[in-house]
Amino acid sequence: MTFAIHGLPVARGVAIGRAVLVASSRVDVAHYFIEPGQVEAEITRLRDARNAVNDELHRLQHSIATMGPKEAPHELSALLDVHLMLLQDEQLITGVKQWIHERLYNAEWALTTQLEILSRQFDEMEDEYLRERKADLEQVAERVLRYMKGVPSPVAQPPVRRKQDHLSQDGGADAPLVLVAHDLSPADMLHFKQSVFAGFVTDVGGRTSHTAIVARSMDIPAVVGARSASHLVRQDDWVIIDGDAGVVIVDPSPIILAEYGFKQRQGELERGRLARLRHTPAVTMDARKIELLANIEQPEDATAALNAGAVGVGLFRSEFMFMGRQNRLPDEEEQYLAYRRAVEGMQGLPVTIRTVDVGADKPLDDARRDDAHLNPALGLRAIRWSLAEPEMFRTQLRAILRAAAHGKVNLLIPMLAHGSEIRQTLSLVDFARAELDNRGIAYGPVQLGAMIEIPAAALTVKTFLKYFDFLSIGTNDLIQYTLAIDRADESVAHLYDPSHPAVLRLVADTIAECRAQGKGVSVCGEMAGDVLFTRLLLGLGLRSFSMHPAQILAVKQEVLRADTGRLRAWAQQVIDADDPSALLG
Ligand code: PEP
Ligand code: MG
Repeated sequence: MTFAIHGLPVARGVAIGRAVLVASSRVDVAHYFIEPGQVEAEITRLRDARNAVNDELHRLQHSIATMGPKEAPHELSALLDVHLMLLQDEQLITGVKQWIHERLYNAEWALTTQLEILSRQFDEMEDEYLRERKADLEQVAERVLRYMKGVPSPVAQPPVRRKQDHLSQDGGADAPLVLVAHDLSPADMLHFKQSVFAGFVTDVGGRTSHTAIVARSMDIPAVVGARSASHLVRQDDWVIIDGDAGVVIVDPSPIILAEYGFKQRQGELERGRLARLRHTPAVTMDARKIELLANIEQPEDATAALNAGAVGVGLFRSEFMFMGRQNRLPDEEEQYLAYRRAVEGMQGLPVTIRTVDVGADKPLDDARRDDAHLNPALGLRAIRWSLAEPEMFRTQLRAILRAAAHGKVNLLIPMLAHGSEIRQTLSLVDFARAELDNRGIAYGPVQLGAMIEIPAAALTVKTFLKYFDFLSIGTNDLIQYTLAIDRADESVAHLYDPSHPAVLRLVADTIAECRAQGKGVSVCGEMAGDVLFTRLLLGLGLRSFSMHPAQILAVKQEVLRADTGRLRAWAQQVIDADDPSALLG
């Protein structure tokens, strides 16, 4: 039966494919595709983990047999029996092997997928005792997952799975896959970045949550905040993701499929038309040159940036290199090589590297997810974390300074608010330079920039300009902190409003002050890539925009049609209006 689920549109376009459910687990589970030649090794890895857990449970049973009924009640032994039985459950074992064989899932992913299927069967059981065994099954699976986590996978890097490698569950090759999950960490998204998925759906997340941002950077349709999608959609269901409307259609009828197939083709035609603008310089009708830069998450994204016609990288979110590494942060050499790859990949164009911005919805790894604090977005994130970990920070600064010997590099600092933080940061930059001097290691010059992401920073731009060469307005956080709306929380997403007069005022004043002082200013939040705001930002005097490569051509089209002279007065009216959104659009 066809039904629709509504969420938030985060990445445009239409995707049609079969659902792959990624189950959420209390254990941080890696999801990646293995190569066909690794199937047996993966099954062996799973078997070893199962045998180890089996031995562990037997040992436990043995030790409680020697205890008295007070320390080890009879129920405990009975529970262990149940766990041991579940560990040998045929449906569990056969199902997991099938996911590995047929879908080439890594063992952990196969196990959580099968767990999800069996959990649903338990939920549907009438007998209460049997229904409650679901929790036991989850505990057993978790033990196996934990064991596997401690054992390095034979697959060191998640391999890229090519479309033609795909075999669908029903044997039909080439059925596109769409990913449906309760939540995906930004690190998970990065794993999927070069994989086969044609679209994404998650239950949670806001329009500018980092998961949504990575989905957008992949330029494939995505819907977040779709509440119960991961419960309503089943493995292998046919699903349509309408990334423009934020709607997910499950089990569509042939008529609906045909309609969306048409929409999909229209989208492809539009992309083809925009592609012709790739080599056209971004110049307005009144001959103002506009800088269109790319936001990237990893060095390899430089190719997409160049292909989209970006004239540099305006925001390299370096934190993605730090995430999901289980306490082993990248050392100076690893970082230096990665930054250098990005710099060389941009072939002489400037690269703005932002220092690590973890915390809030970008935890280093799931074990460090900050659930302990009520407001992680107001906690120890971004520069606050860097200043609290000066060794780590100086390591990163040295790596960036060294990469600057290979091309134009700008160093960008996130989330500054206080003069004392600015001074502390700059003295650590000097310290990092001195360390390199002492070691006789070459490094290059950098332009220093600060992000304006907190209202306090926007209101004290003059102070910032005393210290920095340029500013970059991070509207995603600026909106979050101005309106007190958690950007990752779908329940308040309707109040996350980039066109709120307070937000526009802070953006306008920051641009105006930088221009008055002849300093560079850009916008690198999602607003820069939203064509709804291109004319307004041009009218406010912005000449530098940084966005996902996928958005550059659409923004360029707006730039080519704009006359900044005419837009100036209109932009003033918009920011003075009670309801600016009525004048946009
Ligand atoms: C922003 O806040 O606008 C920004 C660009 O940084 P991030 O989205 O990574 O927090
Ligand atoms: Mg930010």
